[in-house]
Amino acid sequence: MRPTKIARAAGTGASVPVECCQICGHAPLENALSLSYMPPVNQMVKIGTVPHQQPWFPTNLFYCSKCELVQLGLAVDPVIIFPPEYPYTSGMTKLLRDNFAELYVESSKMLGLSKDDLIVDIGSNDGTLISNFQNGGHRILGIEPTDVSKIANGRGIPTLQRYFGKAVAREVKEQHGAAKVVTCANCFAHIEDIHAIVEGIIEMLAPDGVFISESHYLIKLLEMLQYDTIYHEHLRYYSVGSIKHLLEMHGLEVFHARPIPSHGGSIRVYATRKGTRPVQPSVKQMLDAEPRGDAMRQRLKKFRDEVMLSKLRLHTLIRDVKEKGGRIVGISAPSRASTLFNYVGLDEAIIDYVCEIEGSLKIGRCMPGTLIPVVEESRMFVDQPECAIIFSWHIADELAPRLRAKGYKGMLVTPLPVPRAL
Ligand SMILES: [Zn+2]
Repeated sequence: MRPTKIARAAGTGASVPVECCQICGHAPLENALSLSYMPPVNQMVKIGTVPHQQPWFPTNLFYCSKCELVQLGLAVDPVIIFPPEYPYTSGMTKLLRDNFAELYVESSKMLGLSKDDLIVDIGSNDGTLISNFQNGGHRILGIEPTDVSKIANGRGIPTLQRYFGKAVAREVKEQHGAAKVVTCANCFAHIEDIHAIVEGIIEMLAPDGVFISESHYLIKLLEMLQYDTIYHEHLRYYSVGSIKHLLEMHGLEVFHARPIPSHGGSIRVYATRKGTRPVQPSVKQMLDAEPRGDAMRQRLKKFRDEVMLSKLRLHTLIRDVKEKGGRIVGISAPSRASTLFNYVGLDEAIIDYVCEIEGSLKIGRCMPGTLIPVVEESRMFVDQPECAIIFSWHIADELAPRLRAKGYKGMLVTPLPVPRAL
């Protein structure tokens, strides 16, 4: 059954509660976690702006026992969460760049892509993913609603600046032909009406075309206590089970699924029209390892307790530094840091500033919901604060050696899953 009430916040300039499951329409949903109220993660005011009214939204996670989807209890107007000045470009993280390069190698080999094949990437950002297909000699097209599409076009990656939907899909098909591959990395969780998105994808897809999605993985989120990835951009937190349920509603069949390292643990799922390709054993393997029903309810309760404890543990670590008069700064300001800052209650009295590498569009702004400034990283090597908390803790292995090599001598801390000094 399709949801009878789709929470449509687009165009409202506000938010709309999710009253039934976004995939299967089941109601009522069960409350899995509450993080109280949060500001939109991209609401980063310029340093020195006179404080003015800003919106905050309830941030609750719900569980659907029918299709296993874990989802946000509120849809916020995309205009609020993806402002045109959206300060994010995916090309910045080495881990992501490597993952997209690997996605090309894996998929082009598995699918036997030829030069004429069209590859379309939905939510293509600065074109990092699809540039791999372009370098491989294939025809490509990116679709990206924000101004980041201008960066992509400037780099020679053809990109349509539009919100993806069925109308755009039809246009793409008329102008470029059907797509052999449609990719959607980390935006499959973002768009309100997921059924319209899947319909749009099918509209563009060649009869034997393949849809590849990459999404943050619910099971990894629970395991690694990544509650900081819960924010209003992410309406849905997928398992292989819930993605399969969604795609099957549209006649698509998942034929390969596997874990990938992006964002601290994601899944790459391959699907095609039912019966087109043999289903690989990876699908059953992943499904068998996922909790369902009562096992999932228990897993979610454990997660809820651990999230609360992790907040208190981080307070303890910070208090120890502060009681000795230590200064604390933050390393990197990813979107996920906004949830952690506001849930834990970090403010400018605790964190002096947050560092981003030169060129980041976040420099000169404040962390969402706070007056903590984001500054260029070189400052911390001069200041040498006693403690630096890595808020991109999922890539701490990449960041810590770089900070040491640049001369930082203080204590490096990762805040999750258990706060600890490296
Ligand atoms: Zn459901």
